[in-house]
Amino acid sequence: MGSASDVTKPHAVCIPYPAQGHINPMLKLAKLLYQKGFHITFVNTEYNHRRLLKSRGPDSLNGLPDFQFKTIPDGLPPTDTDTTQDIPSLCESTRKNCAVPLSNLVTELNNTSISNAPPVSCIVSDGTMSFTLKVSQDLSIPLVFFWTLGAFGWTDPNDFMINYVIGETERSYKASAVILNTFDVFEQEVLDAIKYELTPPLPPIYSIGPLHLLLKPVSESALESTGSNLREEKTESLEWLNSKEPNSVVYVNFGSITVMTSHQLIEFAWGLANSKHSFLWVIRPDIVIGDSAILPPEFITETKERSLLVSWCPQEQVLNHPSIGGFLTHCGWNSILESVCAGVAMICWPFFAEQQTNCRYLCSKWGIGMEIDNNVKRDEIESLVRELMQGDKGMEMKLKAIEWKKSAEEATARGRSSHLNLDKLIDQMLLSST
Ligand code: UDP
Repeated sequence: MGSASDVTKPHAVCIPYPAQGHINPMLKLAKLLYQKGFHITFVNTEYNHRRLLKSRGPDSLNGLPDFQFKTIPDGLPPTDTDTTQDIPSLCESTRKNCAVPLSNLVTELNNTSISNAPPVSCIVSDGTMSFTLKVSQDLSIPLVFFWTLGAFGWTDPNDFMINYVIGETERSYKASAVILNTFDVFEQEVLDAIKYELTPPLPPIYSIGPLHLLLKPVSESALESTGSNLREEKTESLEWLNSKEPNSVVYVNFGSITVMTSHQLIEFAWGLANSKHSFLWVIRPDIVIGDSAILPPEFITETKERSLLVSWCPQEQVLNHPSIGGFLTHCGWNSILESVCAGVAMICWPFFAEQQTNCRYLCSKWGIGMEIDNNVKRDEIESLVRELMQGDKGMEMKLKAIEWKKSAEEATARGRSSHLNLDKLIDQMLLSST
């Protein structure tokens, strides 16, 4: 951090859950707060900070005087690996082990003569890191929970992650405010239910998404290059897409956590090959459970003219590339919002947490998704890809996706719902910090 820090600013300590799909939206929120005049301390786990330094370089984390990165340990045994951590262990460990280091960090930051930062006025915590409540209570600092799921993602009891989330949600009642990365017309009924029908009522809820649309018009270069990708971003996918016709490529990406069997991987591969469409497929090195991702040589030979296989890509840019004609996704909330904002229709293979509900909404309510049976079969993939890229239903979904894109743009325009809600949130944060 440079020495020119302004110690009169309000100071938000932002702490994401330590996984890619949570760090990305928290960093966007942090940047928005920064643009609204806050000093930001962004707290990553040591493990993820090391990965960020490796993938992005130290300069990308130190470009701004009032935006600093700090770390706390995640409590898991140290390791040199560079992969997605085991989520249940991480949930357990952060809950048990992170409160003390966070409390120590905030106390250090509050020693302003040493920290060269303003006193902490607010903790902005991922909703699934609710141990932060105790830290905020002990230090008498207001706490805002940021839920990086959609609004409805809160309500469906299914698997480990959902049960974990339900437990965490209860503490939201004690926060000063709750932030959701969604926009009103997208989830009106659920937002109304959460706001007006819960007893006792929750603290004020602010739907301020899609965050990346709010952020875009005012970005500056040092802020722009402060990134959150834990894996190296390569531009080869964008270069390859430049050589393709508009709307001609299927983009396939299952996010940062989803894993599958090697049989499922091979069914996806042959389904894509048999569809005869071009495809960009992101295959993380750790995507196959307990094994490396190996594809049959005949598949590689047959598709090499019309496919690109990479281990990671700059997804937002890829989705906005004119060559992309559809997205085969695991239905992570960030992927959905990014696809909606790019006007791209989806084929859905939900994996865990609230992704099944996301998928149901995509297919039945928003009309921009088609679901794949969990038991992946190559014939089904082939026919869904053909339908998406050249069928009537695919065309209908594309038109609908473009309508949702416009709605998202409207919601984030000056004076509209997400924009207004952001201003109200800032007012509340400033008021409670004085
Ligand atoms: N992402 C990316 N490149 C990739 C894969 C993922 O930039 O190759 C980003 C993606 O844009 C999104 C996040 O990682 O912002 C994944 O979050 P999501 O909620 O979709 O899924 P999760 O990884 O949490 O399951």
